[in-house]
Amino acid sequence: MFAIAARRMGYRVHTFSPETDTPTGQVADVEITAPYDDLAAVKKFARSVGVVTFEFENVPADTAAAAAEAAPVRPDGTVLHTTQHRLREKTFLLQNGFPVPRFRSIHTIEDLRSGLQEIGCPAVLKTAGYGYDGKGQFKITSFDQAETLLEGSGGPERILESFVDFERELSVIAARGLDGEFVHWPIIENTHRNHILDLSVAPVNLPPSVSREAIEITRGVLEALNVVGVLCVEFFLTRSGQLLINELAPRPHNSGHLTFDACVTSQFEQQLRAVCGLPLGSTELLRPAAMANLLGDLWKDGEPDWASACRVPEVKLHLYGKLSPKPGRKMGHLTALAATSQQAAKLACEARNALRQN
Ligand code: AMP
Repeated sequence: MFAIAARRMGYRVHTFSPETDTPTGQVADVEITAPYDDLAAVKKFARSVGVVTFEFENVPADTAAAAAEAAPVRPDGTVLHTTQHRLREKTFLLQNGFPVPRFRSIHTIEDLRSGLQEIGCPAVLKTAGYGYDGKGQFKITSFDQAETLLEGSGGPERILESFVDFERELSVIAARGLDGEFVHWPIIENTHRNHILDLSVAPVNLPPSVSREAIEITRGVLEALNVVGVLCVEFFLTRSGQLLINELAPRPHNSGHLTFDACVTSQFEQQLRAVCGLPLGSTELLRPAAMANLLGDLWKDGEPDWASACRVPEVKLHLYGKLSPKPGRKMGHLTALAATSQQAAKLACEARNALRQN
């Protein structure tokens, strides 16, 4: 979607990834296939472009550093380094005074025992690195369960977090330009299924003080990280009205895909504008909108019936061109526009249900 936005504005796009025939590669002018640790290939790639950005925060920090020897990397590698590791990210947020759930670093069973004593049950144990969509995540509901969870495994570094009994999940997607200009889209509300984003809607009816606080926290995060580009702050809103940051995504985010059809400037165009040093575009929401994700599960009985979804005229279909539809894999999404976000959500879900009816 970034490459589409860039091509529309007359830019040429080169893409680098360890895979072939990637969604970006299908749109880009040049697709380079090499492992991220092939730093010679990374430097050669960076020498061929004016600016480097990424749409996946698990690009290794060394890869970003190698690219930076040949071209500006925006946002820079330190943003990747902080946000690709849950412990580093939460420590950074805590040290800078941003609200996060209570957490502890876990290496051993003893750490887990004492962490649970301090944080209490239920709690959530997550791998510190390379986690997303609930991968490597366990909810701990009893102290006994903890004993078996880490038994015999040296395992990767983990983070233990208190389980947040949230009322709603919100995201604020914002962008910061080369000159420090800050813009944000309207707050988005997210619903997850099996830890994977299912539905996003905007606008959201929130007390003005909560909206203001969410936006001020987001502004603070972009400034503290010195971000150039788009960044998403995922929040829990607790039943007592407190905002806690769940995680940061230093790139266009799944919950912001609705900006493509519903806003003056999409998050992808904004990423382009920011990293290319252009003025930022308006983030105005043109109509209430909803986005429903399409996961690989939909292909269980063969190709979904796309025409059925297209029969709902307010719904737009986006398919990413990913080659293998695995369960839980994000293959595309539907965006619906309507008079209210509730109506938009209903339309998007109806269109998605229609896909399964053949
Ligand atoms: P994550 O991969 O950390 O973004 O988690 C995916 C989803 O799992 C979140 O959007 C929440 O719905 C849920 N989740 C993650 N961490 C917690 C937590 N500490 N308390 C409650 N729910 C959580």
